[in-house]
Amino acid sequence: MYNFSAGPAQLPPEVLNKAKDELLDWHGSGMSVMEMPFTSDEFNAITTTAYQDLKSLINLPKNYHPLFLQGGAYAHFSLLAMNLLGNNPNADYIQTGHWSTRAINEAKRYGHINIAASSEASGFDHVPAYHQWKLDQNAAYCHITTNETANGVQFQKIPDLEVPLVADVTSDFLTRQMDISKFGMIYASAQKNIGPSGLTIVIIRDDLLDQAMDIVPAVFNYGRQAQTRINTPSTYSVYMAGLMFSWLLDQGGIEKVEQQNRLKAKRLYDVIDSDNFYLCPVNPADRSLANICFELTNADLADDFLNEAKENGLLNLKGHGVRGGIRASNYNAMPLEGMNALIDFMENYAADKSTTADKKQLCSIA
Ligand code: PMP
Repeated sequence: MYNFSAGPAQLPPEVLNKAKDELLDWHGSGMSVMEMPFTSDEFNAITTTAYQDLKSLINLPKNYHPLFLQGGAYAHFSLLAMNLLGNNPNADYIQTGHWSTRAINEAKRYGHINIAASSEASGFDHVPAYHQWKLDQNAAYCHITTNETANGVQFQKIPDLEVPLVADVTSDFLTRQMDISKFGMIYASAQKNIGPSGLTIVIIRDDLLDQAMDIVPAVFNYGRQAQTRINTPSTYSVYMAGLMFSWLLDQGGIEKVEQQNRLKAKRLYDVIDSDNFYLCPVNPADRSLANICFELTNADLADDFLNEAKENGLLNLKGHGVRGGIRASNYNAMPLEGMNALIDFMENYAADKSTTADKKQLCSIA
């Protein structure tokens, strides 16, 4: 079975097995991680290693704070606005799909939001070219969604901006190399490439930690959380994230998994583009490596395709509700064999249905 879910997504078997082995008794402590006080030496050891591994994976510059918070990226659409618009109410947003639209709608409650560029008119099929962005040089920040999970659109180049760049990296964090110094802040829900849901990672530059509005809840005040842990973290999710970071290091780090992710994505896009049975409406230069969204040219076949895929052990390929179609998530834990299995299935399915359609056409001509 291969699970193409966009999230919560499949985890590497090595990570699940390790968690299974350690479930009842972590390292001879006599406790499950789920039972540990978050202030205990044991849990401190888990968190310290997780932070260290994360920092080394992403080459985190010294002037950034990684925070292990809760709420999910959707909560942080509001929270980041409350944390960053305290001194200056203006922010720019780039609208590239479903999730950036959600981020805009939430932020609007807390400040003056300028949509500096949008691809809505063409159905979110590309990233607007940088020279078309109508940026406010005095904005508190500019927000992008580096990968639109529902639309299959991804920034291939991260722009250099005058104002702090804030990015929702939920669905491509750790899947490709990113120069963190280009950002003022990034944030990600865990359930794609970090581990199970319940944890939200916020990484923020130190100079942005003192711009919060008074109304921000203490546990979501990034500045306060950077100083000291003030509430119970999502302990088991933090532990699982730590196992994932260590697995990623074992794979050779982000550079190595990125190569593999690019290879898997290229193979799938090649099949989609190889004839007109499948189609991907996204501009080739902006196609996501992480969530490959496509359609069957004959949309009536979509349910049949999904059913047959499931019978062949290829799970959760249904596209996001806002756009339908098919979506194959190509996260770090998807092995090359999984992508090859999907490709084989798609080639056979196309050949089979094309032959049936040809036969039907011949019958009707006869
Ligand atoms: N942003 C992006 C890019 C996402 O893919 C998702 C979830 N699919 C979210 C935000 C929302 O995440 P959550 O449901 O964990 O709040």
